[in-house]
Amino acid sequence: MEARKLQAVFGLQPLFWSRFARNIGILPVRPADMLSANLLSGVQLRRAHRLEVYVPAPKAEKNRWRAFAFALRVPMPRFLSVLSMAAGAVFLTSCGTGPSLNVRDTTRTFTTVVVDAGHGGKDNGAFRRFGGAEKNATLDVATRLAAKLRESQFHVVMTRSNDVFIPLDERAAISNRQRNAIFVSVHFNDSGRRGIRGFETYYHSPVARTLAYRIQQHIMTLPGAVNRGVKTANFRVLRKATYPAVLVECGFLSNRKEGAAARSASRRDDLADKIAEAIVDERYGKGTYRAPASTSDAAATSSEHGQ
Ligand SMILES: [Zn+2]
Repeated sequence: MEARKLQAVFGLQPLFWSRFARNIGILPVRPADMLSANLLSGVQLRRAHRLEVYVPAPKAEKNRWRAFAFALRVPMPRFLSVLSMAAGAVFLTSCGTGPSLNVRDTTRTFTTVVVDAGHGGKDNGAFRRFGGAEKNATLDVATRLAAKLRESQFHVVMTRSNDVFIPLDERAAISNRQRNAIFVSVHFNDSGRRGIRGFETYYHSPVARTLAYRIQQHIMTLPGAVNRGVKTANFRVLRKATYPAVLVECGFLSNRKEGAAARSASRRDDLADKIAEAIVDERYGKGTYRAPASTSDAAATSSEHGQ
């Protein structure tokens, strides 16, 4: 349980261990937004008997094709692994909270929603045959989400409303400048394994926990939804937020079915609708959301994403 939690903190992908040296591995790191930023150095404890130490490749931040980290695996006797697990937890706590940002719990009072469309400009995010560039899908869902939230009388600030590059710190800063806000980041997922699919929602501060669960719960009502769960993560946009902040992964572009769904306007509208509903529920209580009339014809494309 503890080890799984630590793994979630770093959002690690499966390691490729060398056949020749079983204690040296390579870890693929996703570009730009997430893992590379958190992998400046990392430790992971697996199955309580190994300590894994990660060192990023020099270009891990800049070039997505060279985005990987090296890992060393150190087998340990049980008593040492327990000791280092404690040490690792302390290490993660200290680097996880950074310069002790105070996160205000505004989940019952917020009037502003900061909607963050992941990636943009030179940063495509994930780019897959089935789903196109992640930055376009995130912008479309985010734009729809913003419109729906405005109809529900929220003040909405988008970190970007067109195809521009906005650094992660700036995204957090935009949110932190607001008076009484929450922060919702929209992403699509990517995996080297095409079979992997599903929705996941991330949070960092415990004050964002219920919001994260609520969003996950609502998007899981969409047809064909696969639940990958609510997870904690040390993503920069979440870590630097002074308001409750969540990041929603709206499916895998690398999966044929979810990639195709991500290209469908009606599916994007449905995703935005479910996220909006969760946000309104979080603020005003269950059942208060009134869905705005959808502009797209849901029936026309529903066969695209099954059920
Ligand atoms: Zn992304």
